[in-house]
Amino acid sequence: MERVEIARQLEKLPRIGAAFANGDIGYQHVAVLARTAEHVGAAAVRKEEGNLLQAAQTMDPGQFTTVAKNFEHRVDAAGALAEANHAYKRRYFHIGEPVDGVVRLDGVLDAEGGATLGTALQAFMKPVKDDDRSYGQRNADALVELGRQGSGSKRDGAGPRPQLIIRASLDTLAGTRGAPAGELEGGGTVPAETVQRYACDSAISRITGQGELEHELNHASRTLPASTRRALEARDRHCVFPGCTRPTVWCDGHHLVWWTSGGATALPNLALLCRPHHRMVHEEGWTLERARHEWRASPPRKVAIPRLRRRE
Ligand SMILES: [Zn+2]
Ligand SMILES: [Zn+2]
Repeated sequence: MERVEIARQLEKLPRIGAAFANGDIGYQHVAVLARTAEHVGAAAVRKEEGNLLQAAQTMDPGQFTTVAKNFEHRVDAAGALAEANHAYKRRYFHIGEPVDGVVRLDGVLDAEGGATLGTALQAFMKPVKDDDRSYGQRNADALVELGRQGSGSKRDGAGPRPQLIIRASLDTLAGTRGAPAGELEGGGTVPAETVQRYACDSAISRITGQGELEHELNHASRTLPASTRRALEARDRHCVFPGCTRPTVWCDGHHLVWWTSGGATALPNLALLCRPHHRMVHEEGWTLERARHEWRASPPRKVAIPRLRRRE
C-alpha cells in the first residue's frame, strides 16, 4: 500500500491518526488499519476504532493482521471471501533452469497454501547439534527433504524410491580425472562426487549410461534389498554422523568403501547418513569411520580449497 493511500485513509480515522502521531502505534500497524479501512470502509473501522487501537498497541504486526482480518470478516464476510478468492487466483510457483549450478525458485501462495507449506517444512527444520546452517539454508534443505519424501517414498522400511535419473559414464562414477559431469534428466549437470553420492544408495536415484556402465551397475548389485535396509535401520537407528539424530526416513545407505572400488552392499560396509551429512562425506571430503562401536568423522585434510574461477 502506498504512503499517500495510507495518509488518505488516516484522514478519515482521527483517533488512529492521533495515536500514530503520538507514537502509540507503529507504521506497520497503521498500514494494516489503512488497508482494513480500504476494504470495509473507514466508517466501519471508526466504529471499532477503540478496540482496534487497543489491539494494535499490544500485538506485533503479524498478530494484529489476524485481528484486522477477523474484523473485516465480521463486517463484510462476502468481501473477505472475494479477497481470499482473488488471492488464490494469484498463486503460482516457478522453478528456474539451472544456471551456474543454482536453480531459482519464485512464487506466491494464498494464505492457506503458505501455512500448509510452512507447517510441512517445520517438520524438517529442526537444527541438529553444532548445526552451522543458516535459517534460510535449513528452510531450503527442508523443502528438498519434503520433495524427496513426498514423491514415491514408501514406508515399507526400504527407504526412499528413485526420484532422480542421472546419466553418467563409468569414468565419472569411478572419479577418473577428466571424466565428464553427470547429466540430470531434467536438465543441468552435477559433479562426479554428487553422482557418486546418488549412486551410493540406489534407492535415491537411477544412474544410466551405456555399455560398460550398465554392465558395472548390474555387476555391483549395489541395490539395497529391503531386508538389508531394515537391518541397517535397526542397527544405526538414525544418521550415524557424530551428534546427528536425524531419523531413518531422512537417511541414505552410504557405502564406506565405494562400490566401484569393490565395497560390498552388505551391513558391515554400510552406514545410515542423513542428506546433509551424506553430502559432507561425498562432496566436502569428510571421512567417516567406524572404530569399534563408535562412529568418527574427520574434516578434509586438504587445506587448499580450489578457488572458484570467475568467468569473464
Ligand atoms: Zn555415500
Ligand atoms: Zn546426519
